[in-house]
Amino acid sequence: DSLHHLDEDRPIFPGLPPLLRGHPSTHMRNGIMRAYRLAAANEPDAEKAFFVADLSVVYGQHERWKRYLPQVEPFYAVKCNPDPYVLRLLAALGTGFDCASNGEINQVLKLGIDPGRIIFANPCKAVSFVRNAAKAGVDMMTFDNADELHKVARAHPGAKLVVRILTDDSKSLCRLGLKFGAPLASVPGLLAKARELNLDVVGVSFHVGSGCYDSKAFADAVARARAAFDMGKEAGYEFGLLDVGGGFEDGNFEETAGVLGGALDRYFPDRQGLRIIAEPGRFYVSRAFSLAANIIARRAGDGGNPEDEIDPDQPTVMYYINDGVYGAFNCILFDHQHVHPYVVSLGGSFHVPDAALQRTESCSVWGPTCDSIDCVCPLAHLPSALQVGDWLGFDHMGAYTICAASQFNGFEVSNVVYTCGGGVGAAEVRAVLAGFAREGHGAE
Ligand code: PLP
Repeated sequence: DSLHHLDEDRPIFPGLPPLLRGHPSTHMRNGIMRAYRLAAANEPDAEKAFFVADLSVVYGQHERWKRYLPQVEPFYAVKCNPDPYVLRLLAALGTGFDCASNGEINQVLKLGIDPGRIIFANPCKAVSFVRNAAKAGVDMMTFDNADELHKVARAHPGAKLVVRILTDDSKSLCRLGLKFGAPLASVPGLLAKARELNLDVVGVSFHVGSGCYDSKAFADAVARARAAFDMGKEAGYEFGLLDVGGGFEDGNFEETAGVLGGALDRYFPDRQGLRIIAEPGRFYVSRAFSLAANIIARRAGDGGNPEDEIDPDQPTVMYYINDGVYGAFNCILFDHQHVHPYVVSLGGSFHVPDAALQRTESCSVWGPTCDSIDCVCPLAHLPSALQVGDWLGFDHMGAYTICAASQFNGFEVSNVVYTCGGGVGAAEVRAVLAGFAREGHGAE
């Protein structure tokens, strides 16, 4: 059992699952082999779906960030995936953290992180959360309305406030402007109110929307931030912080970095005394997690009238897998994602001949709950040889998946198996995490 063999590494953080070595696909197969063995031994829930997290991908994304956006400090958006290993690795690598709640702040502080490395980036906070932030020494926080200013004046008068402005989010998967962001026209009034309340406003933030596929949105947002900086000056503030938010995509990151960098040079040519931060979430984790799910059931045209005409675009086969939209695939509903299954095992074997892979039929893939909204893939083309008991894989499952999964119908959230990868970055990940642990950080 190679999984157990690899498990022999001493745990870096007691209480956390072991950090394995090797390529994630190896661990996906090992996990499946173990599932087959547990099933043979009649273990309940033997075929449970599981994630494989490759921390070297997170490490690689940080390297990419430093290379293309060295002038911008990343504050990882915890909401995207508060995985214990991801947080420890990023903490060890020196990022800051964007927290949206008391719970996230406490989770980050428990790792031994200095509260100065946290921005409370939720413009509408419960007063008790503001008070808790004050007690914990978390000073940096966003606002976009006057009521929030009154709240902060009462609960955290020493806060370092950041005004979140509204920007064009129409080129993003998840638009956030419907809910947050002060229109530029309202900023002078808000700053006047902040002055009146004796509050310190230190800078400007924006968020172009999560999953931004048009890099130009960042240039437009930086231009608006420039205008807000000028409004700050008129109100008597000397802003020193620009927070360019999240929205960074893996696929167009270099292009976005170029556009953002150009806009920063154009609108903030003199950057003395200016700290630029960002709140990336998806960029760091999306590609780092894959999910293996078991085909627990199949319905193949049973009960249909054989004389009915067959529509080739209408799937006749329905596969039921053991994670769905109430679990990891909530990203389909909340995060507007489309997922693409691939075959990991076929007919109980990992050796999948090309010919079998090519003999496909149209099918749909469903989650395990009793709700018909629980559809993972309305139309896919998978091999006709696929059987109950086979496994499907899904890549790019690290962002906005586990964190919002429920246990509806009694289905548990899928576990995570961790690897530091089998190639570039693997040794660095282990060394960075071990160093973090040696300094006494990150114990559960
Ligand atoms: N910052 C804030 C305030 C957010 O609301 C979000 C996502 O909703 C993020 C950062 C992270 O965005 P992304 O994952 O697109 O980088």
